[in-house]
Amino acid sequence: MKKHLFTSFIMVACLLCSCHSSSKQEDSNADNTPAEPNDVYSAYVDSTHNPEGFVLLTDVIPDAILEIRYYSTYNFAGTRIDGYLQPIALLTVEAANALKKVSDELKEQGYRLKIYDAYRPQQAVDHFVRWSKDPNDTLTKQYFYPMFEKPYLFDNGYIARRSGHTRGSTVDLTLFDMRTEKEVDMGGTFDWFGVESHPSHTATLTRQQLANRMLLRNTMVKHGFKPIETEWWHFTLKNEPYPDTYFNHPVYWNVQ
Ligand SMILES: [Zn+2]
Repeated sequence: MKKHLFTSFIMVACLLCSCHSSSKQEDSNADNTPAEPNDVYSAYVDSTHNPEGFVLLTDVIPDAILEIRYYSTYNFAGTRIDGYLQPIALLTVEAANALKKVSDELKEQGYRLKIYDAYRPQQAVDHFVRWSKDPNDTLTKQYFYPMFEKPYLFDNGYIARRSGHTRGSTVDLTLFDMRTEKEVDMGGTFDWFGVESHPSHTATLTRQQLANRMLLRNTMVKHGFKPIETEWWHFTLKNEPYPDTYFNHPVYWNVQ
């Protein structure tokens, strides 16, 4: 029975993967064509299969602190995001191993890594796009995007149909100070839509906040990650193993 489910899952997963690696996925209807996500979920839950090439991040960095915002309601959509079946972080083997080096170095300086998001399935990104196009849902506006209306978020790249996270080697994180037992002060909150999230937005940052951002950024860069200029928390492995593949398996890990 399990073998049958596993085989079914592989077939469905292959269909979805090839579908999402197509360059014609700008049409959101095409993104939603397969009605099989529930089949994929049940195949995952019932089988012992875990996605090849990925690892459970806490198997590599056991003391990483996880606060997976898209599993929770504390995110810009205010609800659990599609595809997040467990509050865990999955990354490609290569990205996780590089992040372990970051963790080891920062631990010597008194910090642990706090993870907000890692691998993100295409179905979650599709959920973001649907959210951005629903003008009636403004549940979290005052917390995450008080200056903007939803169409601005989509038109200016805050929300996009594709995300580097979906390739499995991108991570959103901050630092946790083991002396104070609190997150370090980065001068801004994860997923804030605005220029204050730009890593070097010195107009609103204290020297200490900027130093905290640079500590995270410099250590990530040292160990092979590249930053972006719009989000201080977001990094992608420079030599990512699947640069053209947008995965759709859920955030789920079957612990044997
Ligand atoms: Zn990110």
